[in-house]
Amino acid sequence: MEKYSGKSVYGGIAIGKIHLMTKREQSIVRRKIEDTDKEIKRFEEAKETAKNQLAQLYEKAKVEVGEANAAIFEIHQMMLDDGDYVDSIENIITKQSVNAEYAVGITADNFAEMFSSMDDAYMKERAADVKDISERVVRILSDAEGTKDVSQEPSIILADDLAPSETVQLDKNMVLSFVTVHGSTNSHTAILARTMNIPALIGVNIELSPELEGKMAVVDGFAGVIYVEPDEKTLADLKKAKDEELEKQRLLLELKGQENITKDGKTVLVYANIGNVKDLAYVLANDAGGIGLFRSEFVYLESSTYPTEEEQFMIYKKAAETMAGKRVIIRTLDIGADKQADYFDLDKEENPAMGLRAIRICLQRPDIFKTQLRAIYRASEFGKLAIMYPMITSLEEVKRIKEISAEVRAELKKENINYNDIEEGIMIETPAAVMISDLLAKEVDFFSIGTNDLSQYTMAIDRQNPKLDSFFNPHHEAVLRMIDLVCQNAHKENIWVGICGELGADLKLTERFLKMGVDELSVSPSYVLPLRNKIRSLDLSK
Ligand code: PEP
Ligand code: MG
Repeated sequence: MEKYSGKSVYGGIAIGKIHLMTKREQSIVRRKIEDTDKEIKRFEEAKETAKNQLAQLYEKAKVEVGEANAAIFEIHQMMLDDGDYVDSIENIITKQSVNAEYAVGITADNFAEMFSSMDDAYMKERAADVKDISERVVRILSDAEGTKDVSQEPSIILADDLAPSETVQLDKNMVLSFVTVHGSTNSHTAILARTMNIPALIGVNIELSPELEGKMAVVDGFAGVIYVEPDEKTLADLKKAKDEELEKQRLLLELKGQENITKDGKTVLVYANIGNVKDLAYVLANDAGGIGLFRSEFVYLESSTYPTEEEQFMIYKKAAETMAGKRVIIRTLDIGADKQADYFDLDKEENPAMGLRAIRICLQRPDIFKTQLRAIYRASEFGKLAIMYPMITSLEEVKRIKEISAEVRAELKKENINYNDIEEGIMIETPAAVMISDLLAKEVDFFSIGTNDLSQYTMAIDRQNPKLDSFFNPHHEAVLRMIDLVCQNAHKENIWVGICGELGADLKLTERFLKMGVDELSVSPSYVLPLRNKIRSLDLSK
């Protein structure tokens, strides 16, 4: 047994095989084939294997996220049998005497391009699906030649580091735990691990040698330890701890449907943070009262080019519809710093956290900003949406944003496109915004305090730099007093105030936050019920 320690970013215990995630591109090589009949048979077999995998995924997803959300795996099975798709692949193999991987790759590109160019939004979405199923077939075909992919069985993912864009692309059903050599507690990858409710460790001093692949391991997310090839006693102890954890979760589920109310009758809104519409299943499963932070930049990170108005509209509409009248706060694009998308072509900066990011990009490039605002306003008809602007530092910014937002509404009106007048709020995540929160409160409908960035800028501690973790005090009095000041200034102007940074889930601070008058706490979905439990145990009159 080998034991490696790191820093836990989310508790829980995972038991399973290790999968090393090293950076490798799955490139498809074109090869000449003599026996094309044999190659077609190879494709047919891979297709059947893919369908079986999808059938298993469907069953699993049905239990975890419900029938409606699982339906995509049924659709994928049907797409694999689509006559045109299969004909195209077999035709390429026969006519060009090439390998199946290449024929699948070309067909995927052709079909995806064809779907993307269609006007119908539903058909456009099929482009991603055809790519997805094709990648699965190519993976299976390549497996026969010795490569292995994460989606073959649920595994403990071991990596040097994971970028947020890499993390969001992982098939969450196949991830038991994340363990990385680098990374920091407040990084977006850590936040995603919390959203996904899986044990995760960072800063683990383990050499990523290929022999680790497939080895049995246990991650103890409470102690911040991974055991590789655990001995019997360790395994038995941790299995027991895992069962106890499951029992605790079962008890928490009894809190579903209950109010977020203290013993002395103060109610608080408890919302969830998401980065993707796929996370909506976690939001519903954990009974959140709304979405307090939809990190819309993940829509951009998952795309290889600027997402269109139509694509964004479909996503926001889905969130609005799924939440069925509960508030969904969409935070506008917060790209930059650790969240980079190549196609934005941003210059390399000395201090990216203090650089051209978030609202600064939107104000410099109003075309991108307006596309997003149009999509949000159009989707506002389908539920209770709200907009929130990140990284605000001045009154002038807010005034300019309001002008642009008004222009967007005027354009929609002129085009006879329906929209609702929705709440517009700002994030308070810079010390500058805190200090002028009395003035900002007169301009907006709500405040949401981003404690991740607010802590970073207040303590001058880069949230991405693991070497600074020992200097980082999440309970620094400076940050807590700032939150208090923001609450007072918000309430003087009769607007509501929430916290959507990670501190909102810190149960040691819940009582203090409620005493400050915080109206809403937005946390990773898995923290909703523990937070409700905490709120219900408090008596603020004492
Ligand atoms: C924050 O800064 O606290 C916040 C919620 O935004 P993000 O973590 O996405 O920067
Ligand atoms: Mg922030």
